[in-house]
Amino acid sequence: MFVSVLYWLKERLRDAWLWPLNLVRDFPARSGRLGRTIFVGFNALLRWPLFMGKVARAGTLRRQLRHAARQTGIWLHLFLVQLFDLVGGPEVCQFVMHLGMHTTPLTAAEQTAVQSIFGPHNLRYQDVRIAQGGVLHLIFRFNGGLAFATWYTIHLPVKRDVGQGTAVSSRQNLPLLVHELTHVFQYHHVGSRYLGEAVYYLATTNRNCYQYGGRAHLRVCHQQGKQFRHFNREQQAQIIQDYFTQHRQNQDTAAYEPFLAQLRQREL
Ligand SMILES: [Zn+2]
Repeated sequence: MFVSVLYWLKERLRDAWLWPLNLVRDFPARSGRLGRTIFVGFNALLRWPLFMGKVARAGTLRRQLRHAARQTGIWLHLFLVQLFDLVGGPEVCQFVMHLGMHTTPLTAAEQTAVQSIFGPHNLRYQDVRIAQGGVLHLIFRFNGGLAFATWYTIHLPVKRDVGQGTAVSSRQNLPLLVHELTHVFQYHHVGSRYLGEAVYYLATTNRNCYQYGGRAHLRVCHQQGKQFRHFNREQQAQIIQDYFTQHRQNQDTAAYEPFLAQLRQREL
């Protein structure tokens, strides 16, 4: 008991320390992303009078205004989440959320298994936390036991084995871990926008956003010049999960290779 309290305290201290640490070491990437978004916004604002004159003459005002409103919404989402990242919002949120959960780092075996997918230097593997138990029991009851990743934390449910009636941790499910780690990878390289984008597709497609058409369709996509970044966040995670599963089963994964290479190149 005493040991587990000490471990819990050590983990919370680590969470707290990550806030100032990431404020500094992630400042260049975070400020760069925000700077680019502000630049794009200014540019659009400067072109606004010209744009209005053009669409008024072309008679497509209503359609173009709808398009502009959508683009403004996307821009605003980017601006807000990038500002949130810049002030260390992810670290503060994770600190608070972890207060009611049990967190553990990746095991050496898990790290070895996933490093071959994501590359040795593309993720801070030692910072990844698997969260289980505590308030998560309640969350999984509401979301139907769907594992999810928030920033550098992967939340895994405990599933009930139908045959035996016993509780089975989904931690043994390595392909699921790879799926959720793809979301961590997305966060690391594009920031918190991945979360808003993933939730948007989950909500607007009624959880049907994982389908990418399988191996055959991937081949066609590649021939047509479709890139990994053109898939939505859930499709991206599913593609990498399926690659991992099929590679372990010694199946032909050639259709997945170009997209995996783009992931490793951080083209998200
Ligand atoms: Zn997912």
